[in-house]
Amino acid sequence: MAVMSEHEAVGGREAEAAVRDRTESGPHELCVLMKLGEIVLKGSNRSLFERRLHNNIRSAARGLNPIKLTRRGSGVVIVRMPDASDTEVAELAHRMSDVMGVVWVHLVRRVPKELDTVTRAAVAEMEGRRGSFAVRARRRDKRFPLTSSQLAGHVGAAVVDAYGLPVDLKRPENTVHVEVDKDEVFVFTDGIPGQGGLPVGMSGRALVLMSGGIDSPVAAHRMMRRGLKVDFLHFSGMPFTGPESVYKAYSLVRQLDRYQVGSRLFVVPFGKAQQQLKSSGTERLQVIAQRRLMLKTAEALADDLKAEALVTGDALGQVSSQTMTNLKALDDAVDLPILRPLVGMDKTEIMDEARRMATLSISELPDEDCCTLLTPRQAETAAKIPDLRRIEKRLDAEELAEHLLAGKKLHRPSFLGDEAPEKV
Ligand code: ATP
Ligand code: MG
Repeated sequence: MAVMSEHEAVGGREAEAAVRDRTESGPHELCVLMKLGEIVLKGSNRSLFERRLHNNIRSAARGLNPIKLTRRGSGVVIVRMPDASDTEVAELAHRMSDVMGVVWVHLVRRVPKELDTVTRAAVAEMEGRRGSFAVRARRRDKRFPLTSSQLAGHVGAAVVDAYGLPVDLKRPENTVHVEVDKDEVFVFTDGIPGQGGLPVGMSGRALVLMSGGIDSPVAAHRMMRRGLKVDFLHFSGMPFTGPESVYKAYSLVRQLDRYQVGSRLFVVPFGKAQQQLKSSGTERLQVIAQRRLMLKTAEALADDLKAEALVTGDALGQVSSQTMTNLKALDDAVDLPILRPLVGMDKTEIMDEARRMATLSISELPDEDCCTLLTPRQAETAAKIPDLRRIEKRLDAEELAEHLLAGKKLHRPSFLGDEAPEKV
């Protein structure tokens, strides 16, 4: 007969009871705990930020079971989905990790404020794990009878009893968090990193010039992260190219819709206007003249949409249209500010970010970019603004921009699935 020490017997029983508790619904409800970032630093208008964040959380949870949302102390939001399965709550946590303004997302067990139950929940969280561990306890309700370090010590001892794992307070391989609130305790281990930044919509609206390339989706993500709600504008080379670039822009926006929900993509066929520019004798200025016409069209649309800025994926010196002189010539085309969040980034850094956002593989699909149509053999790297203005005067670029805009089509690529395109 196997001989069991008293220690092992107690530990074994604790572990069994813990696992039993965890699989039963009721006191060990699984929910999502979110830690907020910069919002915490906001002063008097903090409640505005929080209201916006809560609305964004509700939008991101669209289509799932109804949620209950509460704020706790400084910088913590709890999202509950009563009666949902663990898989559904895990999907909720995944969606929450895309909500801007959130730094960490944890799947947590919500347990009553009883020391034994809390301890058993913590032991259950460590089931099947290897390596060292630490318990981090925190009290948002200071009336709890144990201090944080007493609580951590108690729970830690039970984990050692149950599994014999070594404690390492400095560099633990596993961390069990126990957070005591007013009416309940939250127990959890790992988290999913959030996006950080500010809630989308907090900084106003902007219009992103969205090619099918690598850079513009990353630029859009960076600006959404700073609280801008964005619309997207794509110029296709149609009727002289196929629709591939539109499909790519559509898929990219669908992917980016995770971060803001409710995205609009406007598509403008640009091929004929490119040809008109070419016939007016642009020569080495063709690319930069095209980009200025895109910006003018974007500015007219931004006006309709009440967007206060344009966003592009320009990075200084990456291609010939992005020399300092040419960026200045682009700025000259419009009155609205052009935000260029990638201006100081290397291509490899931009690609790493695109990989993390899962847009890189879409951007790398082949397409016929409208800008490569009619590209001169040698593009101008130091465009002179008076030359560009002269070309635009001959063509009446402002009217051409209005005409282009009249041909736009609106799509609503949603991360939840396809919605029918619409003509506006
Ligand atoms: P990207 O990877 O975003 O395509 P790029 O390195 O290819 O950028 P350019 O082609 O010079 O550089 O474009 C610079 C920026 O101009 C893009 O990031 C985008 O904001 C805008 N732009 C270029 N082409 C288009 C297009 N077809 N439709 C809308 N915007 C465009
Ligand atoms: Mg491009």
